[in-house]
Amino acid sequence: MRSVRLPGGETVAALGMGTWHIGDRGATRSEEIATLREGLDLGLTLIDTAEMYGEGAAEELVGEAIAGRRDEAFIVSKVYPHNASRRGVVAACERSLERLGTDRIDLYLLHWRGSVPFAETIAGFEALQAAGKIRHFGVSNLDIGDMREWWTHAPGRAVATNQILYNLGRRGPEWDLLPWLAERSIPVMAYSPIEQARLVRHAGLAAFARTQGMTPAQAALAWLLAQDGVIAIPKTGNRARLKENAGAAALDLDAAQMAELDRLFPPPEGAIPLEML
Ligand code: NAP
Repeated sequence: MRSVRLPGGETVAALGMGTWHIGDRGATRSEEIATLREGLDLGLTLIDTAEMYGEGAAEELVGEAIAGRRDEAFIVSKVYPHNASRRGVVAACERSLERLGTDRIDLYLLHWRGSVPFAETIAGFEALQAAGKIRHFGVSNLDIGDMREWWTHAPGRAVATNQILYNLGRRGPEWDLLPWLAERSIPVMAYSPIEQARLVRHAGLAAFARTQGMTPAQAALAWLLAQDGVIAIPKTGNRARLKENAGAAALDLDAAQMAELDRLFPPPEGAIPLEML
C-alpha cells in the first residue's frame, strides 16, 4: 500500500475507507463490517468516521469491525463544530471512544468551522493529546483563509491534515489551498473521491477507463494517489467494490494518462471557494 507521511514522520495508508452512511440500514450491516475488515486485510488501514455519521451509528459499526484488530487500524474521527469548545471537544471525544470501543483516536478532526473560536478547539485537542485520547489532530473543510487563521495559533501548527472535497470534478483546491498545505507538508485527505459515485457514471471518464484497462472508480482514485501528500477515502459497504477500489493503489498513471485526465477535467484557472458535500 502506498503511504503518506504526516507532519512528525508517521506514515499512513494513502488509500483508506470512508464510512458516511455505513450502518444506516440494518440489512447491510454484516456486509459492511465484513467490508471494513477485508479492507484492513488489503492494507486500507485508515478508516474515516465521525460522530455525525448516523449520530454515532457509524462509529459503533467501526468499533465492531476493528474489534480484536485495533492496532492494525488508523482511526480518524471528527467532532461537530457545535461540540468543539474546549470542554465540549473532550466530552465528544470520550463519547466517540466509547462507541469505537477503543482508548484512542489516531487522528481527530474539526468537521467544519462553526462559531467556536479556533483557539478553544485547539486547546481541547491539546488536552486530549496530553491525556493520550487522541494521537494527532486536524481539520476538515477549511479553505485557505480559515487555514491561515488556524495557522496563527502556534499550537494549531501541529495540524496533521485538512480533509476536503477533492476529486477529478472538484479541482478548485489546486489553485491555492493545496499549494499552501504542501508548502507546510500538511497532507490532504480527499473526501468523496469518486464524487459519491457520480464520477463512475461520467461518460468521458468511463471511456478513458475502458481504453486503459481500469474501471472509472479506479481511474478517479489512481489520479488522486498519483499526487504527493494526498490520501483518498472512498466509501463502500460492498466487498466487490472494495476490491475494485483497492486495485487503484497498484495503478501508476503515466504522463499521457494524466494529460488525458487534465483534458477531461481541466484544472482551475482561478480561485474557486472550497466546496463541501
Ligand atoms: P465517495 O466515497 O466518493 O462515494 C461513495 C459512494 O460510491 C457510495 O454510494 C458507494 O456505494 C459508491 N461506490 C464506492 N465504490 C464504488 C465503485 N467502485 N463503483 C461504484 N460505486 C462505488 O463518497 P463519500 O462517501 O461522500 O466520501 C467518502 C468518505 O469521505 C465518506 O464516507 C466520509 O468518511 C468522508 N466524507 C467527509 C466529509 C467531510 O465533511 N469531512 C464529507 C463527505 C465525506 P456502495 O457503498 O454501495 O459501494
